Amino acid sequence: MQPILLFAHNPSPMTGLGNNTYLIADSGAAALVDAGVGEARHLADLDAELIDQHARLETVLVTHGHRDHADGAPAIARTHPSAVFRKLPWPEEDAQYDTAWHVVGDGDVVGIGSEAVTALHTPGHSPDHLAFWHEATRAVFTGDLVVQGSSVMIHWSRGGDLGQYLASLERLLALEPRRLFPAHGPVIDDPRAILTQYLAHRRFREQQVLNALRAGQATVEAIAESIYDGLAPALMPAARENVRAHLEKLRTDGAATHADNRWTAS
Ligand SMILES: [Zn+2]
Repeated sequence: MQPILLFAHNPSPMTGLGNNTYLIADSGAAALVDAGVGEARHLADLDAELIDQHARLETVLVTHGHRDHADGAPAIARTHPSAVFRKLPWPEEDAQYDTAWHVVGDGDVVGIGSEAVTALHTPGHSPDHLAFWHEATRAVFTGDLVVQGSSVMIHWSRGGDLGQYLASLERLLALEPRRLFPAHGPVIDDPRAILTQYLAHRRFREQQVLNALRAGQATVEAIAESIYDGLAPALMPAARENVRAHLEKLRTDGAATHADNRWTAS
């Protein structure tokens, strides 16, 4: 299996160079991992590759309900009416897309010609996040779990959960994958290195947040200021989101409490 990278053509401050989508074609069948945003160039590239591969688009697997991954589903459905769109349900988000979603959940195997991928529920970045595991080549389509050279946002206020995210990274690591196909950034040829580095970085941040709590910093704002001293003001909201995600994880772990708008180490 050699996935074909199709750019979604949606560069922005949030998506970087834009999203990667991946076409997997085998024996006349094809599946697309992530739907992009319906950009005309993405749709044209998809059609051209399907012709090249003599394949029919049977399935679109959406890693999660964020717009840059799901928004293109209706446009793809218009040109490929027999394609089935599958994701793990996230009802509040899924309803915004005019798409008849079919459920794919943890452990489900999706056939693509003579190939198959297995869905892995990997929540944390979002509650509905799936990765897709191709065991034969030990490759994983990782959606927004990792981005080479960058980090992944955990929006606590939008369904993100840092504890779940770290467990998802551990789950990925335990598979001993050989290659990761992320939705942003380059293909990752040394999964172990990036996954262990991500986990170590989050542990380091958690320790910083705990230290700030123990030093008497009691609000998200104060903790973010103390840890991210000197950060460009435009990046501060993201830093505060990150601190909040850490505090919520510490609370879940029983290491922090929140009362009267003040956080304390417990
Ligand atoms: Zn996302």
